[in-house]
Amino acid sequence: MSPAAPVQTPMRPPLGLAGRAVLFVIGLVTLTATLATATVWYGANQESRRHQEMVARDLTRRFTDNVSAMIVDGEAARLPSMVERMAARDDVMRISLRDRDGQIIAESGRNPEDVRISTLLANRVNASGDVERMHAQGALAVGAPIFLNGQRIGAAVVMWSPDEFRFNTLLALTPFFLFLGCLMLAAVPIAAHFVRKAIAPLDELTQFARKVAEQGEPAPLVMKTGDEFETLAGAFNGMMERLDASMRRIQEIAFVDPVTQLPNQDRFLREVDFSISNARTSEEGGAVLVFEFQRLQAMMPALEPDAARELMRLVGERFANAARTVDKLMRARAGLNSAAAIVARIGASEFAIYSPSALTPTNAGRFAQQMASALNQPFDWRDHKLSLGVLCGVAISGRDGDDAYSTLRHARIALNAAQSAPAKVKLFTQSLDREAMARFNLEREMRGALERNEFRAHFQPKINLDTGRVEAAEALARWVRPDHTIVSPNRFIPLAEESGLIGPLSDAILREACWKAAAWARAGMPVKMAVNVSALQFRDERFPDRVLQILNHAGLPATALELEITESVAMEDPERARRLINKLREAGVRFAIDDFGCGHSSLAALSKLPFDVVKIDQQFIRALDNGDAQSAAIIEMILALAGALDLEVVAEGVERREHVEFVAARGCRWVQGFHYGAAMPAAEFAETLRRQEEDTRTRGAA
Ligand code: C2E
Ligand code: CA
Ligand code: CA
Repeated sequence: MSPAAPVQTPMRPPLGLAGRAVLFVIGLVTLTATLATATVWYGANQESRRHQEMVARDLTRRFTDNVSAMIVDGEAARLPSMVERMAARDDVMRISLRDRDGQIIAESGRNPEDVRISTLLANRVNASGDVERMHAQGALAVGAPIFLNGQRIGAAVVMWSPDEFRFNTLLALTPFFLFLGCLMLAAVPIAAHFVRKAIAPLDELTQFARKVAEQGEPAPLVMKTGDEFETLAGAFNGMMERLDASMRRIQEIAFVDPVTQLPNQDRFLREVDFSISNARTSEEGGAVLVFEFQRLQAMMPALEPDAARELMRLVGERFANAARTVDKLMRARAGLNSAAAIVARIGASEFAIYSPSALTPTNAGRFAQQMASALNQPFDWRDHKLSLGVLCGVAISGRDGDDAYSTLRHARIALNAAQSAPAKVKLFTQSLDREAMARFNLEREMRGALERNEFRAHFQPKINLDTGRVEAAEALARWVRPDHTIVSPNRFIPLAEESGLIGPLSDAILREACWKAAAWARAGMPVKMAVNVSALQFRDERFPDRVLQILNHAGLPATALELEITESVAMEDPERARRLINKLREAGVRFAIDDFGCGHSSLAALSKLPFDVVKIDQQFIRALDNGDAQSAAIIEMILALAGALDLEVVAEGVERREHVEFVAARGCRWVQGFHYGAAMPAAEFAETLRRQEEDTRTRGAA
């Protein structure tokens, strides 16, 4: 078996197709925007530079014009203060006035580097006689000639601060940035549109997956994109088909009995619940009928698996056919437009019907009776003539249960009681429920009692009439409660058989009986030990081995053990009985047929089984008291027949001397009954044996 699959922790899905597409588009837009910005920025810078140069040139020219005008006006002495004023402007860094030889006339600041630049530029202007410019120290230096009456008299150099111009450039570029922003904004929905278009098939796949999760079975996905999406859709459809098939298979396994193909108990309960809840609105219910094939249950374990399946299938078919026929009849008679019956196999040998048309106990009972008579018809199977022995319990929803489960539970309680019902059909009643409850409690108590070893063997003496001595004992189970009260086996044995507790219980009694017998034999007081065997024990093929093992452990010779079975147990499956009996008889164990005369089996059939002993049932002995001639005749007949078949006979329930005399006169050698003693605890029985030994010794000595 493979280990359970590890729990899947939800994984972050890798970037999907949609994600990648979105990223790609965003990347593209960003790159384009960056390139465009860089280009525009560069262009704007160049433009701003040209603009700056033009402005600087004009301003510088105007300054030289002012200088000329001042000299012409004879105010040359004010030149230094004019230079100072000009240099104070925000956009001017420095000013220098030079004569034609480059000598300084007036100047603002004396930074050596600035002096170098203004000297250089002034020399260039003096040489060319025109405006010169130069970029240095992050600033723009412009030199212009100074004219006086058409004569060049020197040059002015102004170094313009670049900041002022750059600010202006940024302002100039604002519309462009606005445009760029709009473009980006527009790009988002456009990109989204393209992305959505690109991932539309993916979206469809996602929708499909969601539908699968929500509804389970969507229609197949149709996608003709001719790309990976189409392949993916194909794979999806294939996967869904396989999933669908697996689901159907699981449903089948979970709700259909694989052998008969009938619904199983789970499905039965669901369908009945559905039907009941629907019916309630129209004040209608229905009957749950549970059937059990007793003999089938007994036969199954002995069959080969294939044969068992085949028989089960056949029985299922018979059951379903019978149910359908009877249901049709019932519905026709009811004249109702009621739904058809639901038929199911709800246990190993249990079947059930829910009939919405059987609304009253009378109708439900009729349904059950007709089913029973149809199913009890013997049928042929592999050279056998089988009759299945059907029991039926009935409960009616609404009356006996609110839902499918409680109605079925009550039908099962009725089924348990059907065993003792004359027609083997029983309708649920409240008192059955109480009994079932009491049984349930008793069963629980019994489990505890078994663990506490409260089930003990008591021993009833069996007398050999030839010697008049206790030479054997029958072990009888007693439930000795802690308060020393004793529960009769008539109360707990049937329940132990029903609940399967009989196995461990009988084993405990058999074991104790064998150990005690072995101990008494070692003490010089050997007795033959008789132990009762229940029907359930006898159905188990391993029973002989268990008996032999217990004998072995106890150290008791097999010849000292006698097993008692009733004729109904023996006749349940005569073939198996013969097999089991022979196996133990070969080892030396003897077999007695218990309660003989009570059953209905023919003596001829019984005599074919290898028994050693016949126990005449106590009712015939008791009947002797009333002078019942028939009982006397039966006892005589049994004794005669046993003599002819060479069987030993034990008369049970001898309570008076007359009983003993009657059977002894007709050749019965063994008796047991209250006349000699009831079953007693082991210690008491041992005491009886010891006293008997003493008596024998004293009598021998006398
Ligand atoms: P059974 O095998 O027929 O046992 C004989 C029953 O008759 C015993 O009842 C016994 O106490 C009672 N009895 C004996 N002598 C007389 C008598 O003179 N007069 C009357 N009226 N009754 C007498 P008990 O012990 O109550 O057992 C009842 C049944 O329970 C047994 O019937 C047997 O079928 C079953 N049983 C008892 N012990 C075991 C056991 O260990 N295993 C199984 N499988 N069944 C057991
Ligand atoms: Ca018995
Ligand atoms: Ca008996």
